[in-house]
Amino acid sequence: MAVANTPFDLVVIGGGFAGLAAAHEALKNGKAVCVVEARLRAGGLASGTEIGSDWSVDNFYHHWFESDSHIFDFLSELNLEKNIVKCEVETGVLTDSGCFKLDSASALFKFPLFGIISKFRFLLFLAICWLPLNPHFLHRITAKNFISFVCGRKVYDVLWAPLLRSKFEKYAEEISAAWIYKKINLRSRNSSGKGESLYYYAGGFQKCVDDVVDFVRSKGCNFEFGINVLDVVKENKFFHLKCSDGSEIISNKILVSSRRSALTLMKDWLPNDVRQKYSEFKSMANVCVALTLEAPISKFYWLSNCSSSSDWVAVIEHTNLVSREHYDGRHIVYLSRYISPNSDFYNLSNGDLIENAVSFITNHFPHISQNQVTLEKCIVNRAIETQPVISSSKYRYFFPYMFEDWGVLSMEQIFPEDRGTNYAVREGKKVYHELMA
Ligand SMILES: Cc1cc2nc3c(=O)[nH]c(=O)nc-3n(C[C@H](O)[C@H](O)[C@H](O)COP(=O)(O)OP(=O)(O)OC[C@H]3O[C@@H](n4cnc5c(N)ncnc54)[C@H](O)[C@@H]3O)c2cc1C
Repeated sequence: MAVANTPFDLVVIGGGFAGLAAAHEALKNGKAVCVVEARLRAGGLASGTEIGSDWSVDNFYHHWFESDSHIFDFLSELNLEKNIVKCEVETGVLTDSGCFKLDSASALFKFPLFGIISKFRFLLFLAICWLPLNPHFLHRITAKNFISFVCGRKVYDVLWAPLLRSKFEKYAEEISAAWIYKKINLRSRNSSGKGESLYYYAGGFQKCVDDVVDFVRSKGCNFEFGINVLDVVKENKFFHLKCSDGSEIISNKILVSSRRSALTLMKDWLPNDVRQKYSEFKSMANVCVALTLEAPISKFYWLSNCSSSSDWVAVIEHTNLVSREHYDGRHIVYLSRYISPNSDFYNLSNGDLIENAVSFITNHFPHISQNQVTLEKCIVNRAIETQPVISSSKYRYFFPYMFEDWGVLSMEQIFPEDRGTNYAVREGKKVYHELMA
């Protein structure tokens, strides 16, 4: 039971990467800090599941890009950089006509679904995205208009429309051009045709989180797992956090992970206009199936799904990122779908979701048969808020996160970059320092 008579300097609600980075900053500055996490383990969206193999399987597929300097610096500070593994991968698209490599200029020129003019316009689009443009200006236009204007309608319809639709469903056509611009801007510029360098953590992302927790705990951080913070009241200058196990934790300042928790816990502190703004933000849920197979499905790590047959956003063959030796020689393939949490699909049983995923794989990759799937080692995960919908707007993008003795750590404050562990760490550090200034 979590009872502390002496108030903490800071309580961090949420043990995802943002909360852990904030807690580490607090310790570096000599503060008494406690992390309260509703689940039994830290990690949030980046957690994983042990399936009896050497390495754990991520609940939602994860990797790092070359540009993810905040997380690399963070892991270096904790002497964990030795566990970062560099991986060379090939990526492409899955279409009704088959799988095609599409991760370099040379691959683009071999791509059979576009004519030569479309290919040059596509290259022009990439070149524009590599320029240092003002994201707030781009935020005024939609990704659809930006891409269609530069690449032409054919490239938009064949490639981008299915991707935006499977990521954002009914919001696809309102997504901000700033979001797509930054996603491309941060990717490595490769024209050689050799593929892309990505990074992973030896043992899986859960191992990374556990190593971070061990380090931070060894420096004096208190952790309370399996405890939901249900309410917060202020008495005699201090916050009293009312926890799901009936205990109370007292603190001077609070950092709360996620907009949803902020809306509930900060009811007496959020100004009305901010409460309204927070409520209006839209976010996609995600369903992710990790299939364990006896055979590989392709040479690609990542295949964006541009086919007409399903709304799975991508086929991610994890064992083309890292060796299958770490998974008892089996092949791990993720299928992911962004969706509304109220939809029938989101609420299908685990068995039905696995069946749907297996049938998608066997249809598109006929060399795979049902009996090559190790059903008892397949995993299903779902989460309600996984991808903020960054809609284009005539107003500058703005997400308020500082309120006197409170700070909010939420995916929505990451702009113009897409959410990710790298930016969770950046925001965790930044908001900690603003809160304590
Ligand atoms: C499908 C998918 C793929 C992704 N791929 C990548 C990738 O390849 N690379 C990458 O870097 N990132 C990726 N991400 C994003 C990454 O996982 C997140 O951006 C990051 O983990 C967010 O960290 P966070 O700490 O901000 O929030 P979270 O991970 O959501 O953590 C918040 C924590 O707070 C806890 N919490 C909330 N409220 C309370 C409360 N009241 N009491 C107690 N605890 C509470 C929650 O239980 C949770 O553990 C992916 C995400 C998804 C969904």
